[in-house]
Amino acid sequence: MSGNSYSSDCGRCGGKKTLYCSIDTKPFEYNSADCLNCGFSYYTKILILQKDELKKLRKSINYKSKKLTKQEQNNCKEFDKIYLK
Ligand SMILES: [Zn+2]
Repeated sequence: MSGNSYSSDCGRCGGKKTLYCSIDTKPFEYNSADCLNCGFSYYTKILILQKDELKKLRKSINYKSKKLTKQEQNNCKEFDKIYLK
């Protein structure tokens, strides 16, 4: 992963520049932050939708789905090995 970190104001306690934020951009955008003042913490949650959840979402935004290509299937397998242990 590649990315960087910076300090920001905390949305919980209002501390100035007490929120230590990290952002990774590859292979996907991953954000996390921890307030060094009050302990507020959050991060991007990684999960894979169940088939019926995915169906519902596609339907709700009229997304025309197609089957994953062999390459995409392999990409998923490699990704899962790293991020969904
Ligand atoms: Zn805080």
